[in-house]
Amino acid sequence: MNIDKILGSGLTSHASRKKLIDELKKLGIKNSEVINLISNMPRHLFIDTALANRAYENVSLPIGFNQTISQPYMVARMTELIHEKDSMKNVLEIGTGSGYQTSILSMLFKKVTTIERITLLHEKSKKKLLQLGFKNISFILGDGHMGYLQNSPYDAVIITAAADSIPENLIKQISNKGRIVLPLKDNEGQKLVKLKNTKNGIIKKIIEDVVFVPLLQGIETNE
Ligand code: SAH
Repeated sequence: MNIDKILGSGLTSHASRKKLIDELKKLGIKNSEVINLISNMPRHLFIDTALANRAYENVSLPIGFNQTISQPYMVARMTELIHEKDSMKNVLEIGTGSGYQTSILSMLFKKVTTIERITLLHEKSKKKLLQLGFKNISFILGDGHMGYLQNSPYDAVIITAAADSIPENLIKQISNKGRIVLPLKDNEGQKLVKLKNTKNGIIKKIIEDVVFVPLLQGIETNE
C-alpha cells in the first residue's frame, strides 16, 4: 500500500492537525503510534465536503443515516486501549460507519474485519478505503452482535456503537490474550469498558463516561 500517498493528502490543514494532536495529548493520549496515525490520517476524506473544514476539530460529525464519525479523542482512546505491542495480528471492528476508525486499525493490525449494518454506509466506506489503497480489510455487511466467526480468533475487538449488554458471541471469538473495548449502557448513561481475557477469565475495567449512537439489531437495506 502506498501509505505515504494516503497519509500525505491534505497537508494544507497542518496547523489544525497540530492543534488537534496537542488537545489529544492534553486529554491523556500517550501512545506515540496512535498519535502519529491520527496526526497523519486525512480525516477530511471520510466526511462530506460541506463539513470538511471541521475535520480536525475534536468532535463527532454527521455522516448521514443518523450516524456519526467518532470523535478523534475517542478513536485515539479506544485504539490505545486495544494496543498491545506483540499481539496486533487480527482485529474486529463493529460499526464501520465512515471507515475512519477502520483506516487507523488497518495501519496497526495485520488484518482487519469490519462489520456495518447499514448497506449504504458499508458500500460507501468500502469504496473509499479501497480507493485510498487499504488492502488488509474484510468488509462485512451484517449485525455485529454475531461477530464474525470465520475470521476469528481476534486479538482485539472494538465496538463503535453503544451496546445494552456485553455481546456474548464476541467473548467466544477473542484469543486467549484478546481484549474488547465498547461503550456499554447502564442506568446513568454509557461507560467505555475494556474486557480482557486472562488465565483467570475475563477482567472488566470501566474507563470513562462516553456518548455513542446505539448498537442496533439486524441489517438495514437500501430503500
Ligand atoms: N467508527 C465509525 C463510527 C460510526 S457510528 C466512524 O468513526 O465513522 C457507529 C456505526 O455503527 C454506525 O455506522 C452504525 O450503523 C453501526 N452499527 C450500529 N449497530 C450495528 C450493528 N449491530 N452491527 C454493525 N454495525 C452497527
